[in-house]
Amino acid sequence: MNRTITIFDTTLRDGEQSPGASMNTAEKLRIATHLDALGVDVIEAGFPASSPGDFEAVSRISETVKNAEVAALCRATAGDIDRAWEAIKDAVKPRIHTFIATSDIHLEYKLRMGRDEVVERAVAAVSHARQYTDNIEFSAEDGSRTDPDFLCRIFGAVIEAGATTVNLPDTVGYAVPSEFGELVRHVMANTPGMDKATLSVHCHNDLGLATANTLAAIAAGAGQAEVTINGIGERAGNTALEEVVMALHTRPGTFPMETGIDTTRIHATGRLVSSITGIMVQPNKAIVGANAFSHESGIHQDGMLKNPMTYEIMRPETVGLTTNKLVLGKLSGRFALRSRLEEMRYNLTEEELNTVFESFKVLADRKKEIVDEDLEALVTDVVLRSHEVYTLEYLHVTSGTTVYPMASVRLGINGKVKQGAFEGNGPIDAVFNTIAKIAGREPELLRFSIGALTGGTDAQGEVTVRMKEGEHVSLGRGADPDIITASAKAYINGLNRLEYFKSNPVTSCDVI
Ligand SMILES: [Zn+2]
Repeated sequence: MNRTITIFDTTLRDGEQSPGASMNTAEKLRIATHLDALGVDVIEAGFPASSPGDFEAVSRISETVKNAEVAALCRATAGDIDRAWEAIKDAVKPRIHTFIATSDIHLEYKLRMGRDEVVERAVAAVSHARQYTDNIEFSAEDGSRTDPDFLCRIFGAVIEAGATTVNLPDTVGYAVPSEFGELVRHVMANTPGMDKATLSVHCHNDLGLATANTLAAIAAGAGQAEVTINGIGERAGNTALEEVVMALHTRPGTFPMETGIDTTRIHATGRLVSSITGIMVQPNKAIVGANAFSHESGIHQDGMLKNPMTYEIMRPETVGLTTNKLVLGKLSGRFALRSRLEEMRYNLTEEELNTVFESFKVLADRKKEIVDEDLEALVTDVVLRSHEVYTLEYLHVTSGTTVYPMASVRLGINGKVKQGAFEGNGPIDAVFNTIAKIAGREPELLRFSIGALTGGTDAQGEVTVRMKEGEHVSLGRGADPDIITASAKAYINGLNRLEYFKSNPVTSCDVI
C-alpha cells in the first residue's frame, strides 16, 4: 500500500518572512481558503506571539478553515504556547507547533544552554501544550547541523511527553540529499517511540536543494513535508509545494506515495500567492513559471504534435493550466460574474459582489476579454485591500513631449480624503511624489518593475515596487489597464504594508 505524505504548508508563516511580503488579514484568509481547497493537510497560519496582527490573522483563519489542520508556531515557553492556543482554539483541527534550537552552535552562542537543559525545556513545552491538545509538533531548530544522536534523544523525549510530529528542519539550507536522507534514516531507526509519531522535514533553498533534500527525506521514511507555495520564504525560500507534489505524482515508481493535493489547483494557488505578496515567479521556475510548459524548440514542437509524451513529462492540465480559458466580457451579467468567482472559490458577500461588479463593468469597458487573472486583481483591489489606511480615490496625470509631468491625486487616509498636485521627472515620478507628500511619508523606492498580467495589447499592466522606510522594507503590487494607475496602486499598496509594520511591531526572534 502507498504511504500518504502529509503536506504541511507554511506559506503564511515562513513564506511571509520573505522580505517585504507581509500580508493583511483579509489577504491571509484568502490564501488560507485556497490552501484548504488545494487539499493541504496542515496550514501553518502564523506565529501568534510575534505580533498582534499575526495573532488576529491566525484566529480568523482558525475560524474559517474547514478541512485542514491549523497550526500556530510558538517558542518553547509557556507564554508563547498559551498565546498560540488562544489563537487556534476554535479551529476544527488545531495543532500547536513549538520549537527550540538543538545544534551545538545554537546552544552555545544563542541559547547559552547545555543539552540537558534544552531537553528539559522541550519536554516542559510539549507537556504544557498537552493540556490543550494532543496534536503537537516539535521542531528541532537547526536540526540538520545537530548531533544525530542528540536529535534522537530529544525527539524520543518529546514523543514520550506527547508530541505527535517531530520536525527535522534544515534551517540554514546546508544539507545535501544523500546526507540528509541518511540522517532521516538514522533518526527513524534510533529514536525511541518513533513509531508513535510522524517524522517531518522542513528545508530551505540556500543551495537550491530544498526539493531534492525533501524528496530524499521522504524516500528515507519521512511522513510529512513542510513547504510553501512557489517556494517563497526567508532568503532563498523554502521547499516549493508544487515541486514536491508533482515529483511524487510524476514518478510513482520511484515514490510509491500519495498526497491529498488536488494538482489541478496548483497553478491558480501559485498565481494568487504571487499576486497578493507581490513576489513574482521567475519564468523558468519549475511547475508554476510562465515557461514551464512552453516547448519552443522546433524539434520539440514537431515531436509534441505527433505525440505529446515525446517531450512532455507532465500535462499542463494536471496543474490546472488550461488553453480554453473561460472569458467574461462587457455583456456578462452579475450572475455570470458571481458563478465564475464562486468557481474560483471567492465567496463574497452581496455587498462585496456589488462593488466587484461595478469595477468589473468599468474594466470591461476598457478591456474586451476579462480572464481569471483580471478577476483576481479586481477582487484583491476592491475587496481584500479596501479597509487599508491609504486608498486611491482619484488620479489625473499630464505628461508628454511638450508638458511638464504633473499629477493630481486624491487619497483616502483612514476614510478622510486629502488631495494635492506635484510635479516629477516623469509621470510615474510625479504620481509617487504626490502620494508621498499627501501621505506625509518619505519612503525610498528601491525597485520598480512593470509587466503585463496576461497577453494582448489591452492587457492590464502589473506593477511591483519595493520600498524602504527606516528599517522596514515592503513590496507593493497594483494592476490596471493604465500603467500609471497600476503604478499608483502598487505604491499605495507598498505604503499600506509599511503602515502595517508600524502598527504591528514584531517581536524579533529566530525561527526554524
Ligand atoms: Zn523555515
